[in-house]
Amino acid sequence: MHPSSSAITVEATDTNPFFAAWTGAFGVPPLDRVVPAHFVPAFDAAFAADDAEVGAIAADPAPPSFDNTIAALESSGRLLGRVSDVFHVLAGAHTNEALLKVERDIAPRRARHRDGILHNAALFARIDALYHARARLGLSAEQLRVLERYHLNFTRAGAALGAAAKARLAAINERLASLGTAFSQNVLADEQAYALSLQGEQDLVGLPDDVRAAARAAAQERGLEGHVITLSRSSVEPFLQYSARRDLREKVFRAWIARGDGGGATDNKAIIAEMVRLRAERAALLGYETFAHYRLSDAMAKTPQAVRGLLDQVWAPARERALADRDAMAALVQDEGGNFELAAHDWRYYAEKLRKRTCDVDEAAIKPYLRLDRMIEAAFYAAQRLFGLRFEPRTDVPVWHPDVLVWEVLDADGRHRGLFFGDYFARPSKRSGAWMTTLRDQEKLLGDIRPLVVNVMNFSKGGEGAPSLLSFDDARTLFHEFGHALHALLSDVTYPIISGTSVQTDFVELPSQLYEHWLERKEILQRFAVHYRTGTAMPDDLMRRLLAARTFNQGFATVEYVASALVDLELHLLSDPQSVDIAAFEEASLARIGMPREIVMRHRPPHFAHVFSGGGYASAYYSYMWSEVLDADAFAAFEEAHDVFDPATAKRLHDHIYAAGGSRDPAALYEAFRGRLPTPDALLRRRGLTEASASGPGSSEAGSREAG
Ligand SMILES: [Zn+2]
Repeated sequence: MHPSSSAITVEATDTNPFFAAWTGAFGVPPLDRVVPAHFVPAFDAAFAADDAEVGAIAADPAPPSFDNTIAALESSGRLLGRVSDVFHVLAGAHTNEALLKVERDIAPRRARHRDGILHNAALFARIDALYHARARLGLSAEQLRVLERYHLNFTRAGAALGAAAKARLAAINERLASLGTAFSQNVLADEQAYALSLQGEQDLVGLPDDVRAAARAAAQERGLEGHVITLSRSSVEPFLQYSARRDLREKVFRAWIARGDGGGATDNKAIIAEMVRLRAERAALLGYETFAHYRLSDAMAKTPQAVRGLLDQVWAPARERALADRDAMAALVQDEGGNFELAAHDWRYYAEKLRKRTCDVDEAAIKPYLRLDRMIEAAFYAAQRLFGLRFEPRTDVPVWHPDVLVWEVLDADGRHRGLFFGDYFARPSKRSGAWMTTLRDQEKLLGDIRPLVVNVMNFSKGGEGAPSLLSFDDARTLFHEFGHALHALLSDVTYPIISGTSVQTDFVELPSQLYEHWLERKEILQRFAVHYRTGTAMPDDLMRRLLAARTFNQGFATVEYVASALVDLELHLLSDPQSVDIAAFEEASLARIGMPREIVMRHRPPHFAHVFSGGGYASAYYSYMWSEVLDADAFAAFEEAHDVFDPATAKRLHDHIYAAGGSRDPAALYEAFRGRLPTPDALLRRRGLTEASASGPGSSEAGSREAG
């Protein structure tokens, strides 16, 4: 059921690519021919087509069956899927004024459209009847899971409620969609509006060559002279780490943490207050105590208490470690004759000095060994060793920007598994951060459909003919997003609703964070960490120090993360937030947990996109830590096998995690892989936050794990 007849009329008068079959290589959308004006007519037609398809399913005179109801719903809405997927890629990775306008117009309409389906009483009656008869329908395990997910999704959207409650829910969702769009556009506007221009050597003092080159490339990208620091993480963080100009560090840091908090037209605080209020009202209408209770009931964690339990367990040792590091840095300031108290904009600068001193590792000495192209190859190599995948570059596939690279993914038998798109460089038209998305998901319902998987990063380009060089954190981000990509590429399910990354939020970071572990292995670094000028491999001694230093500054990293997760949780545990003063709430929450004055949350509420641009991670930012409990424990399975590419462990990982999508409950999937559920011990060890590893970076414990 693809484009409706009205769509064909549009095609006759227009060359809108959404109304034609995509006949190019691999059926990839003609991304090079899509223009903003195509989207509104395409969305119009897609909403109408979907309504017609769903209406026919709801009105089917035949009694409900899995095929005529659930499988039919899974087959519907394909035009809407195609239009939305392309729109999401462009809106995130290469946007412009016209696309931002489409986004504002479409977000509330999409919410209304979705609720129109989820609140369709005749349709829900069919799903509900099937659900209650599920034991007698002779369904496969996967079909049973799909039916249960449908029933849950409809119930959680209010399908079983009365007309008045449904109408109010729909109004709330529509408003939330608009607010989420406004939130993210405000952050983008603040990021685009800012550039710290560096004039001459006195402004560049302390910056290594690659940071200067990246600042030069950022200036050129904006048509400016000289060097520029932007508010993209990969531009700000190295500047804060190296710039000897305390005044400039303070200037850029203040701008960075004030995104969405500037008090003007792009201020997000009122938007946040309204979103929190509406989410609480929605949860109450659905019968939950708070939004967090509602949200977490369909997560692996299940309850706010379970989340707080994990975060509290990590918070105390992390805070203690961060305070000890702070004291060491304050002493360093005094040693150097600095007559000031350590401030938040000093942390990264002095942490870098402390790292050089205590771990004998200089980030600037690492970077020349981490060429972007070699790190991409490293991520591919690990996938080949673990899962037998091969990656072949393609130049015949349309892309949305000339910087985007494409590979065909083949399995060990040479069979096509999908396409992988890598969009690695920061540019003004791109949102900050890094993410994975798809232009098409794997499924077998409408044929053997192979996925089109996208990674988007914000790395700095190399300047003046030099390759792009990554920090170790950047390389980790690359492996992380590639882990998500593998979850989509290796997916082997029949139904789209459970394909690839369509799993609970606190489980979805397992395949991505687990993949980061391979970056930290000698087996990978020896082969791929090669100096960009000399071509020599990273010296063993440097690699050993780099890996031993990985627990360095983990107190800081854990504190800035857990503080964000706790504030997110507490905000959504308010049962009647009629008028939250967000600034005051943030301050009070941080005071309660004893946030060190010298550390700022990783994401302050006014630019906390995970939580407020859409609801993806609302009261669920803890998910990364929850998944880390899993990934730390999961990687230990390879260590126990004394082979980080152990074929038997890799096969279990493939079958039960990377290929399984949401085909079973996440706890059941994990147990099938590991034979048991994990405890947080491996996580605490990995972050160097246990008693045993409290002797600090470079301790024998960290060293021996590397040697082993
Ligand atoms: Zn992730």
